[in-house]
Amino acid sequence: MLMEQARDEIVEYGHRMMQDGLAQGTSGNLSVYDPEQELMAISPSGIPYDETRPEDIVIMRLSGEIVEGKTRPSSEYLLHSVFYQVREEARAVVHAHAMYCTTLACLGTRLKAIHYAIADAGTNEIPLVPYHTFGTQDLADAVRETIGETSNGILLANHGMAACGHSLKNAYGIALAMEWCAELQWRCMCAGAPHYLSAKQMEGVMKRYETYGQVRPDGTKPHGYSG
Ligand code: 13P
Ligand code: ZN
Repeated sequence: MLMEQARDEIVEYGHRMMQDGLAQGTSGNLSVYDPEQELMAISPSGIPYDETRPEDIVIMRLSGEIVEGKTRPSSEYLLHSVFYQVREEARAVVHAHAMYCTTLACLGTRLKAIHYAIADAGTNEIPLVPYHTFGTQDLADAVRETIGETSNGILLANHGMAACGHSLKNAYGIALAMEWCAELQWRCMCAGAPHYLSAKQMEGVMKRYETYGQVRPDGTKPHGYSG
């Protein structure tokens, strides 16, 4: 089978999505991209995470052509493909209907710099993609138009969130950081008027991240601490 390691990782992180409360039922999906083979491994559509086996993962091109797989690929394969097209470094994408990110997305609110941990996503404000039907080219196009230059995460109006990273571990860590910040922002909104960090204060955070962010195996540094 092609991309065996990626298949195992997708199964493992699907379990984590359930354990960490990022996913309910069959909501959300995961992918890993191999730029050498130009292939994406993606979770199957509509199969519960605890029933997904490595052989259920679908291997496809970013164009949508299926190379190996007996199941139907995630309905969001276009959304995943856009991340790999607009973020050259991206090697994995996590999409989830995580409760607090989705709450903000339903309020029509961006995820803001309520805490410096937002810098894990490479930005001080997570863009909000306008609503489009799930799994459509329109939704993927809207992600391409909205994501901007730096953010490794997005909120999807009345739908959920997505994050990319240089590994599945990293993308998943960013998704968890986004969800933690979203809960904090929502709690502050409930309690009163949240105080957000300024762009200048976030510049200071980004500088510290250059020193304290983890070093990748290739020696370069990702934004943030997320794996
Ligand atoms: P799939 O089961 O097709 O991956 O869809 C889940 C989802 O979250 C759609 O937006
Ligand atoms: Zn979804």
